[in-house]
Amino acid sequence: MHKNNIYKAKKRLNFIMALILILGFGGITVRLAYIPIFKPEYKTMVKKQYMKVTRIKPQRGMIYDRNMNVLAKSASVWNVVVSPKTFKDEKQKEVAVEGLSSLLDVEKKKIATSLKKSSYYEVIKRSVEKPLADKVREFKRENGIWSIYLVPSEKRYYLRKDFLANVLGFVGNDGEGLEGLERYYEQDLKGFDGKVIGDTNAWGTDMPNSTQKVYDAKNGNSLVLTIDASIQEIVEKHLKDAVKEHSVENRAVGIVMDVHNGEILAMATKPDYDPNEPFKVFDETKKAELEKITDQTEHAQTELKFLQEQWRNKAVSDPYEPGSVFKIITAAGALAEGVIKEDSDFYCPGYITVGDRSINCWRPEGHGHINFEDALIHSCNPAFATIGLKLGQENFIKYFKAFGFKELTGIDLPGEAPCIFHSPENFSDHTLAVSSMGQTFKTTPIQLITAVSAVVNGGKLVKPHIVKQIIDEDHNVISSNETVVKRQVISKKVAQIIADGCEKVVSEAGGRQAYRKGQKRGGKTGTAEQLDKQVHGEVVNYTLSFLAFAPTDNPQIAVLVLLDTPRIGQLWGSVIAVPVVGRILDDIYQYVNIEPTYVTSDSVKSVCLPNLEGKTVDEAKEILRESNLRYNISGEKETVLGQLPAAGFYVPEKSIVTLYTDFDEDVSSVEVPDLVGKSLESAKNKLNEMGLNYMQQDSKSEGSNKEHAIITKQTPEADTKVKPGSIIKLEFVYSSDTRIN
Ligand SMILES: [Zn+2]
Repeated sequence: MHKNNIYKAKKRLNFIMALILILGFGGITVRLAYIPIFKPEYKTMVKKQYMKVTRIKPQRGMIYDRNMNVLAKSASVWNVVVSPKTFKDEKQKEVAVEGLSSLLDVEKKKIATSLKKSSYYEVIKRSVEKPLADKVREFKRENGIWSIYLVPSEKRYYLRKDFLANVLGFVGNDGEGLEGLERYYEQDLKGFDGKVIGDTNAWGTDMPNSTQKVYDAKNGNSLVLTIDASIQEIVEKHLKDAVKEHSVENRAVGIVMDVHNGEILAMATKPDYDPNEPFKVFDETKKAELEKITDQTEHAQTELKFLQEQWRNKAVSDPYEPGSVFKIITAAGALAEGVIKEDSDFYCPGYITVGDRSINCWRPEGHGHINFEDALIHSCNPAFATIGLKLGQENFIKYFKAFGFKELTGIDLPGEAPCIFHSPENFSDHTLAVSSMGQTFKTTPIQLITAVSAVVNGGKLVKPHIVKQIIDEDHNVISSNETVVKRQVISKKVAQIIADGCEKVVSEAGGRQAYRKGQKRGGKTGTAEQLDKQVHGEVVNYTLSFLAFAPTDNPQIAVLVLLDTPRIGQLWGSVIAVPVVGRILDDIYQYVNIEPTYVTSDSVKSVCLPNLEGKTVDEAKEILRESNLRYNISGEKETVLGQLPAAGFYVPEKSIVTLYTDFDEDVSSVEVPDLVGKSLESAKNKLNEMGLNYMQQDSKSEGSNKEHAIITKQTPEADTKVKPGSIIKLEFVYSSDTRIN
C-alpha cells in the first residue's frame, strides 16, 4: 500500500474513532451528540473526552401505579445519523437517500438536504427501535455505506395513551424530565453515569495492556405512585365525556384523594395529550389555528404557547374561584370559633346588603327563615355572608390560613401555584361577605380538596402526595412518603356537623343527582362566576364544581370535579358537575366492590318541587301530576299565588302540595300529631291522611333489623298549628324489636 494511502486511511480511522467515541458507541449520552462538535470552540473539549473519559449511560427508572402496573419505562433505541462529509461520492449519497427514505419513512427531500451539508453529523431519524435499526445495519453493510451510523439512545414509553399525562409529564430528546413527575423526580429517576477512564478503545473492544478503569453506571430508581390506574381511568373517562357533552372550553379537572393520608388516587386534566408525543398540539381547534399562521416566528411562539397550555397540570397550577364549595370552610371556621351554632337562625329575603352594596342569593325569592344546617344544605348566600361577617376578618383569615390556603400544599409535583387572595388594605366587609361564599379569590383544586379533606377526616390537615415509594431496580424500597399531618384544624365534633349537612346536600338538595340508594355520599356544589372575565360588566363564564366524599359516616375518599367554562347545558354545579361525580363514584364503588347498605329511607324517591306561582290552577295541577305529587287547593281563584312546601325543596314522591289562590281567605290550620315512638311507616301514613308532608332525617344508629324504624324526634313538635302541606321533619332509629307498630 502506498504510504500516502496508509496515512489517509489512518487519518480516516482516527476520525471515525473520535466520532464514535463522542457519539456514544460505548454508551455516550445523546446530549453530547447535539453539540455541534466540529465547531472550533468545542475542539479542545472533544479532544479531552477522547483522551480521558467515556460515559456509560444508566437506564432511567420506571413509573408504576400503586398496584405495580407499569405506566412508564425506558428501552434502548438508536438514532440514525449520517456524516455527509465522509460519503464516497454523489452516487453513494443517492443510494443512501433512496434506501433510508423507504426504510425510515422520511421524505427523500429532507435526507438529500441533510446530505448536501458540509458536516460530519446529521440526524436523519431519532429513537428507532431494534428491528428497524437492524434493517438499517443490513442496508449499510449491503451497500458498503460506512457514513451511516446507529447511535445508541434511550426512549421513554408511556404504556397507556392519553393517560395521566399532566401528572406523569414527559422527557425531552436528551432523556431529561421536562414536565410532571418526570421533572420533579428527575434526580431519582435518572440514575448515575458510569465511566471508562484511560486508553479506551473507541471500538468498544478491550485493548491489550491498557490501563482503563471501568465504573459501572447505576440505573435510575423507580417510582411507585399512589395513583390507582383503574380509578384514574374512571375519572378520565367521565371527564372526557363531560368536556364533550357540555363543550367545556377551558378544560376539566378531577381529583380523587384519600382523606386520611393525602394519597392521590387519581388526578386528571382533560383534554390532555399523549406523553409519547408531547410536542404535538392535540387540540383540533388550536391545530387549525396554528396552520393558518404563515409567519415563522409567530408560528413558533404560538405553538409553544399552545404546548405549554396542553402540558399544564390544572389541578395544581391553575387557581380558580371555588364558589359555594368553599362554604364548607366558612361553616367549619364559624362553628369552630363558636360564632354560630347548629341551630342558629338566619333570614334570607333573596339578598343581603353589606356596606352600600347588595349581594344576591342564588334563589331570587329567598330562603326566608333558615337555620344553619338548611343554609348549608341549600347553599344560601345571605346566610353565609352573615356567617362570614359574624366570624369577622381576623378569624376568617385565621381559618383561611389554618386550612392551608395561604401556603402551598407541598404536593410532589412541579408548578404548584399559590392561592390569590385580597391584600389586607382591600379586605372590606363586602369582600369578607363575598369571600365567605367562595367568590373574589382563587384557590387551586389541590388546595381545596386538601382543606375539605381536613373537614371530613376529623379535622386533620394532611399533605397530599402522589409518590408512595421510591424503589431500586431490584424493588428494594429506598424511601417512602409517609402521611404528614400538618395540624389539627377543627374538632371532630365540628367535622361531623359539616359531614352531616353535606350528606343532606346529596340526599335532599343540590347534590341529588349523585345520590344512590344505600350509599352514604356527601358533598357541596359550586357555581362560581368568573369575575375577572366579565364582558361589559356581565358574568359570562362559570366554573361549575362538585366536591363529594364517601361514605359520610366514615369518609375515605374525596372527589373534586370542576368544569371550567362549559358552554352547553344549564350552567349550575348541581345540574352539570354533580352527575359527573355521581358516575365517578358509581364506578369506583363497583371497582372496589362496596356493597350498598340499604336503609328504609332509600326506598322513597325524592322530587324537587317546581315553582308554581303565577300558573293557573289547571297548569299547576298538570305539572304536579307529571312530577308524581299530589295537591290541595286553598281559595277559589284562578291563579296560584303561593305554595307550600316552597319551590326548590326536595320532598318524597306523592307528597301533597298546597296551592294558595287567595291569601285573604282564612286558611285552616292543622295540628301536628304526636309521632314520637311510632313506626316510620305509620307516621308517614298519619301525616298523609292529614294533608301534611314529611322529610326523613338520616339515622345515626343502625339496629339489627333495618325494616323497623321508630321516630325519635319530630319538628315541629306535636300540637303545633301548621298550614296544610307543611313539611314535618322526622328523625328515627332502627329497632331490633319487630313488634313495634
Ligand atoms: Zn338564600
